[in-house]
Amino acid sequence: MGGDDPRRQVPRTDDVLADPRLADACSRLGRPLVKRIIAGVQELVRTGTLAPGNVVEETVRALPATAATLRPVVNATGVLVHTNLGRAPLSTAAVAALIAASGTTDVELDLDTGRRGRRGRGAVDALCAAVAAAQAALIVNNGAAALVLAATALAQGKEIVVARGELVEIGDGFRIPDLLVSTGAQLREVGTTNRVAFEDYAAAVGPDTGFVLKVHPSNFVVRGFTSAVEVGRLSALAVPVVCDVGSGLLGPHPAIPDEPDAQSTLAAGAALVTASGDKLLGGPQSGLVLGRLDLVEMLRRHPLARALRVDKLTLSALEATLRGPRSPVLQALEADTDHLRERARRMAIRLQDKGIPASAVESAARVGGGGAPGVTLASAAVSLPSAYAAALRTGQQPVLARIERDRCLLDLRALDPLEDEVLYVAVTAAQLSMNGTVGDEGATRIETCTS
Ligand SMILES: *Cc1c(COP(=O)(O)O)cnc(C)c1O
Repeated sequence: MGGDDPRRQVPRTDDVLADPRLADACSRLGRPLVKRIIAGVQELVRTGTLAPGNVVEETVRALPATAATLRPVVNATGVLVHTNLGRAPLSTAAVAALIAASGTTDVELDLDTGRRGRRGRGAVDALCAAVAAAQAALIVNNGAAALVLAATALAQGKEIVVARGELVEIGDGFRIPDLLVSTGAQLREVGTTNRVAFEDYAAAVGPDTGFVLKVHPSNFVVRGFTSAVEVGRLSALAVPVVCDVGSGLLGPHPAIPDEPDAQSTLAAGAALVTASGDKLLGGPQSGLVLGRLDLVEMLRRHPLARALRVDKLTLSALEATLRGPRSPVLQALEADTDHLRERARRMAIRLQDKGIPASAVESAARVGGGGAPGVTLASAAVSLPSAYAAALRTGQQPVLARIERDRCLLDLRALDPLEDEVLYVAVTAAQLSMNGTVGDEGATRIETCTS
C-alpha cells in the first residue's frame, strides 16, 4: 500500500460491472444488488484488506445464489421437522409443481369452459382422496389459521369446551388458548392438568357450546396419573368435536403408533380435523381442515377464509406432495438404521482420510416440534470435535449440527443420501477454515455399538 491514497486505486463501479460475469449477475440478481456487493468489496480495497486487482474476483465470489437472503441449510440435527429450518423439505415433485405454477396458471380457471374454476380443486381433491373418511377439505395458510377459522365460524360468541391439559403453547410464545380467545369465542376449560373424564365434558356442553376441541400435545408428554377422553366417546355429545391433530399425518404410521392421524380421528367420530401441511405430511406451509361437508362449507364461506387462503404455489406443491412420491420427511422417518450406520461409517472414513478426526457413532433422531413427542428414532451420526459446529454453521454451505456431550454430531437421518456429498464438502471446508486447530475427543464408536 505504501504511502499512496488507497482510494485512488479502487476500481470504478462501472469498470467492475463491465466484466461479463458481473453483467450476467446483473440480469440474474438485479443491478442494485450487484452494486451493493461491489460497494462492499471496494470498501475492502479502501481499508487495505484487498488488492485492487482482485475486486472482480472477490465480487464474483461474494455474489449470492439468488436475489433473496434465505439460504439452503443442511439439516444434520437429527430433528426431522425443524421449525427453525423451515420444517418439511419439499420433494422434487413438489418443487417441480411449484415452479410450474409460478407463472400465470389455471388456479381459478376451467380451461375446458373458459369460465371461473374452483380455486385449489386439485389439491382439495387429492386430500379427500388420501383421507377416505373426509367428506370435504379446505386448505388455509397454516395449522393455526385452520384452528382460528374453525373457532370463528363455529364458536364466535359461544363456548369452546376444551380439556385444561390440552391448552398448549405451540412455540415462539404463541398459545392455542390465546389464539382461540382472539376469535371472540370463550374457552370452557374442563378437567385438570393431568386428568379429564367424559363426565367433565358432558357437564360443560350446553346450548352455548360451539364445539368440543381436542388438541394433540405435539411437543410434550404427560406421564403418570393421567387420563384423556377418546374422540369416539366425545362424538356421543350433541355438539361437533374438532380435533387439532397437529402433525398432518393422514393415516396411521407404524414408526409412530401414538401419533394421531386424520383418517383414524375422523373415522372415530370427529366432525372436523385440523392440521399443518408442513410437518409429518411433508408439504409446504399450509393448514388443513378435513371432515363433515356442512361444517367445511361453513368455514369455506366465512369472510375470514378469504384472509387465510393460500396461493397457487402452496396449492401446487401440496397437491404434488399428496399425489407424488413419498415426501422427504416420510423417507427420513422410514430410513433403514443399518443403512444410516453405513453412510456414517463411509463418511467418517472419507473425512479421516483428509486428516479430520471424525468417527461414526450411534445417534437418536426425533420427529421434532412437528409431532411424536418423546419418540426417538435410532440413527447414526458423524461425530466431530465441537468446534466444528460453528464453522459448519457459518460456512459457504451452512450445516446445522447437534451438540451433544461436547461433540458436534452430524445426524444423517434427516438427510437425503444425495446430500451426503454436500455435507462432506462442507466439513472439509470447515476444516480448512479452522486450520485444523482441534484434536479428537472420545465418543462411542459405531463399531462398538453394532454388529
Ligand atoms: C404445530 C401445531 C399447531 C400450529 O400449526 P402451524 O402450522 O404452525 O400454524 C397447532 N396445533 C398443534 C397441535 C400443532 O402441533
